[in-house]
Formats: sequence, C-alpha cells, structure tokens
Amino acid sequence: MEILKNCPICNSVEQAEFLTCIDHTQSKKEFTIVQCKSCGFKFTNPRPDTTEIGSYYKAEEYISHSDTTKGLMNRLYHLVRKYTLAKKLQLAARLCGIPSTKNPKSLLDIGCGTGAFLKTCYDAGFKCLGIEPDADARRSAINNYKIDVRSESELNTLQIESFDLITMWHVLEHIHDLNVRIIKIKELLKPNGRAIVAVPNCNSLDAKHYGNKWAAYDVPRHLYHFTPKDITTLFEKHGMKVIETLPMRFDSFYVSMLSEKYKTGDVKYIQAIFQGILSNVSAIKSGLEFSSQIYIIKKM
Ligand SMILES: [Zn+2]
Repeated sequence: MEILKNCPICNSVEQAEFLTCIDHTQSKKEFTIVQCKSCGFKFTNPRPDTTEIGSYYKAEEYISHSDTTKGLMNRLYHLVRKYTLAKKLQLAARLCGIPSTKNPKSLLDIGCGTGAFLKTCYDAGFKCLGIEPDADARRSAINNYKIDVRSESELNTLQIESFDLITMWHVLEHIHDLNVRIIKIKELLKPNGRAIVAVPNCNSLDAKHYGNKWAAYDVPRHLYHFTPKDITTLFEKHGMKVIETLPMRFDSFYVSMLSEKYKTGDVKYIQAIFQGILSNVSAIKSGLEFSSQIYIIKKM
C-alpha cells in the first residue's frame, strides 16, 4: 500500500477522512477516501501501489473488461453498450470530422479494454490505436478485432502530436500517475486535437443517496473521485481546457443497480430504476451533476 501525502491536484498536505468504503467486488476489504482540505478533491488513501493493484481487477463481476452475457444485469449492460457505442462514435465524428482517405483521423483509446469502441471507430474509418494494461483484455481485442492494442508502457514510445482524438472512457480514475498521464495526453494530441475524458461524478444525486455504498466509488480500483470542478482544475493546471460537458444518462441506472446490491445484498431493480431516473432529473434541473459525465478537452 502507498500513502499520498500531497493532494494530486493542488499539492496540499492537509486532508480529512471523507468516507470508508468496502471493496464489494473483489477483496471485501475496507478502504478510506480522503478529502483535500484545500481544494476539496477526494481520493482513495492509502491505496494499493502499481505492483499490488492488479490483484483487485480479477473479479468475475467486473464486467467492464469481459464480454460475458450471463445474468439480467449483464444482458442489460450489453444492450445499453450497443447504443452508447453508437453515441460515442457520433461524438468522435462530431469532434474531429468523419475520416476519409484525403482526411484521415487518428484515434488513441487509452484503457480500451476488449476493444469494442476502437472496433466501432475502425469500421467508421478512423486510424485506431489502443492502450490496455490488462494482458487478457489486450489479447481479446487483438484476436477478436485485429486492431493494434499495446501495453501501457508503449505510451512513451508514441510520436508526439500525432492524434486527432484521445479517449479515456472511465479510465482516468484508475491511473496512479495522474499528472504524468495528463501531461502525456497533451503531448500526444495534435495542436487542434481533442481529448474525451469520461469519469463518475461524486457530486451526483445517486452518489449522495448511496453514500459509502455508491458503486462508482469502486475502491480501491478507483483511486480518484472527481467532481466537474476537479476535472476543470486538474486539466487547467496542465494547460488544457474543458470546452464541453456531456451527460452519460445510463450510468445512473447501472450504478444504482450495483449500489442497491451493495446496500441490501440483493438487486432491487425497481428502486434502482427509480433512483436512476431521479438522479437524471435532478441533473437536468441543476445543469451539471449527472452520475457520470463526459468532458471534452483541448489544449489552451
Ligand atoms: Zn487539493
């Protein structure tokens, strides 16, 4: 385990205990989330270091990295994923234009998992490269889709300013070296390139409702627990700017379903759907507080 003495965003050494959460999917151990007294940023502390974290990723239920279709929850997840993949492609094309032979577009998907988003973009004409730390997921992406997916260390071998678009779908909250990674993203983006960063929002109504049972705290895999303000401050610190924020409306339902399970030991679909709707309605009213949000970022 490693202890962060300084806040990863503002470097302050003053922190207070915020919540204690259980790792429900793997170790069943308790982890503490602290809050920076200076900027308010919340992060898991202490946390497993880079050599220890791998053992927390192998649970059957951690379906982000697998393609199993067992159970109602997984079937729903896959149905929604099909729809969201189409929406993600639509967003990629809106941000950098539809690729053509004369005007090729290069995409780097960091934390591409088993490669579904990359495959969707590849079929639409994007020049695609994936980075995935998990060897099994990487192998699956390469074997199933024949796309170029490399290990995390390869990030440092890529040509600078060579990507029109860099995407990190629910990835930034997993990265140990947060600031180093953001500097790398900036370096790899073309001057007019765009980054898409999607992360859970611990200011959402479902986060407040479920407290330490909120599934998107997902300790210790989630090292950071971002609010929209944290994302803005973090990227501005590195000379990048959030130019647009978009909701991920399905996440509140999925997160509420898991949270109900952690809270009651049972999947309570009606309560989860109710909470999911409530979270979205409250977000629409308040403008910015969806369960998970997509941030469109450019260089300043
Ligand atoms: Zn701070």
